[in-house]
Amino acid sequence: MWLDEPRHSLTEVSFAKWNLAQGEYGTGSKGSRYSRGKFDVRPPKRNLMKQKKYTCKKDGCTQAPYLGGLCRDHHKENEVRRRLHDDALAALHAGIVDGELPSDQRLREELDRLRDCWSGICTVVQKQRNTPTMPLDEADYAIDWCISLAQEIVKAQREILAGKDVAASLGFTQQWVWQRLQNLNAGLRSNGTRRE
Ligand SMILES: [Zn+2]
Repeated sequence: MWLDEPRHSLTEVSFAKWNLAQGEYGTGSKGSRYSRGKFDVRPPKRNLMKQKKYTCKKDGCTQAPYLGGLCRDHHKENEVRRRLHDDALAALHAGIVDGELPSDQRLREELDRLRDCWSGICTVVQKQRNTPTMPLDEADYAIDWCISLAQEIVKAQREILAGKDVAASLGFTQQWVWQRLQNLNAGLRSNGTRRE
């Protein structure tokens, strides 16, 4: 009897568990959606959809992802862009391209002129306060304009060192950026319309 007891108890416990499980899975309630199977377990969902194939997150690209959700080519492209952005910031903050002052005088002067504007714009953003030539709501955009032009200066300096022609995008960007900054200097909005 003494020896039998543990085994008996165990059976009881098992039976109780089984009972509980029956309750949990709904044998008690007829017609329950989980009471169809022999052991009353939830039937596995049939996956009728074809398993989603993961591709590069760049629109229209069907290559397999390599890093950060991008394929190898688009990841590389992203890295090049990120590096140029960092190099443009270095040019704006320190006046240097690849660790040196631009060797071309016109580029050096252009960068100096841009850096003067840049520091004014940064002050507006940091203090969150308008100045007569730089309204706060334009300053965030102006940061991007300066970075765009600095990127063109960095690229142009490299092209000159490599003995290549400077890309036309430098001229376009210069015109575009300085026109906006001039409008602001004249007390207008960057697009040339009157300030409210
Ligand atoms: Zn891709």
